[in-house]
Amino acid sequence: MKPTKLYCDLFGHNYQITKKVTNHVNEYTCKCCKKQVTTTINGSLTELTETRQEINSVLERVYNYRTMRLKQKMLSSSIY
Ligand SMILES: [Zn+2]
Repeated sequence: MKPTKLYCDLFGHNYQITKKVTNHVNEYTCKCCKKQVTTTINGSLTELTETRQEINSVLERVYNYRTMRLKQKMLSSSIY
């Protein structure tokens, strides 16, 4: 077992946001052991698996699409 991993096990991971998926979902990487996790829709942290990454990319697309539509809506409503 690597000492950094032991440190994480003892004191918890030192997560840093590596990617913002939506307002509520982020991807994190631990600064010590490089473990990758992500927030789930219900707010808990889970390991960033390939499936999770796929879910996140879909979420990101939907989220971007929505915010884009919202901006367009705001823009068009501010004209009148
Ligand atoms: Zn760690």
